[in-house]
Amino acid sequence: MEVIFLGTGSAMATPQRMQAGYLVKSDTDALLIDCGSGVLHRLAGTDTGYQGVNKVILTHHHSDHVSDLVPLIKARWLAGETTLSIIGPKGTKALVSSLFDVYAYLEERVTLRIREVGPHQFSAGKFDIAAHRTQHSMNCLAYRVASIESPSGPEVVFSGDTEASDSLTRFADDATVLVHDCSFPDSVDVSGHPTPTTLGKALQGISVGRVYLTHLYPHTEENHRQMREQITTHYTGMIKFARDGLRLSLSDT
Ligand SMILES: [Zn+2]
Ligand SMILES: [Zn+2]
Repeated sequence: MEVIFLGTGSAMATPQRMQAGYLVKSDTDALLIDCGSGVLHRLAGTDTGYQGVNKVILTHHHSDHVSDLVPLIKARWLAGETTLSIIGPKGTKALVSSLFDVYAYLEERVTLRIREVGPHQFSAGKFDIAAHRTQHSMNCLAYRVASIESPSGPEVVFSGDTEASDSLTRFADDATVLVHDCSFPDSVDVSGHPTPTTLGKALQGISVGRVYLTHLYPHTEENHRQMREQITTHYTGMIKFARDGLRLSLSDT
């Protein structure tokens, strides 16, 4: 399995970080987790391209996770690809329908399959996925993704946007990689997102191969060392800061 970080930023744009988006590839399939602003351009820079991804799984409907959906649909149509599956929490059908209220001319150009999911297990193409409700300012799901093609292979958890929570880190226990929201340093008073200290405490006692911090606001950029120390005070596993373009090749063993 391969994970490519397309967007590791937030709703506050920076030149280095696009909004939320991750490409997950198995041997024969690919899916996109979230599709925020800038993700389409990053996707165009991968071997897979926007032609090679026919399914998007949304964690939630904040604009920094969905705003490249229409550009993705239009780019696929112009490239001769006329289908797209969009999977997400309750409200995804209404969201997509409202987009076509605005961009009605696209509606007949593409065949969309919209599926709403809750906090349970489902499959999408060649992927097995488990979903878990997060603590955020709107309905949001974290996803644990495995390839059906390699049942004992790597598993990657995407937290979506969430406060630090023991139930979510337990959901991620034993995963190969956990990609977790770490929007702000401790100095920012925030709800709906973790701080390094609350995340470090929630990670205590679980076992994950590597944790990648993402959804990074501009406030974090000069504070990586301090944020890492605040997490590792409570959690001794491997912590890394994600960056746009990072590729993880995860072997089956
Ligand atoms: Zn959000
Ligand atoms: Zn967000």
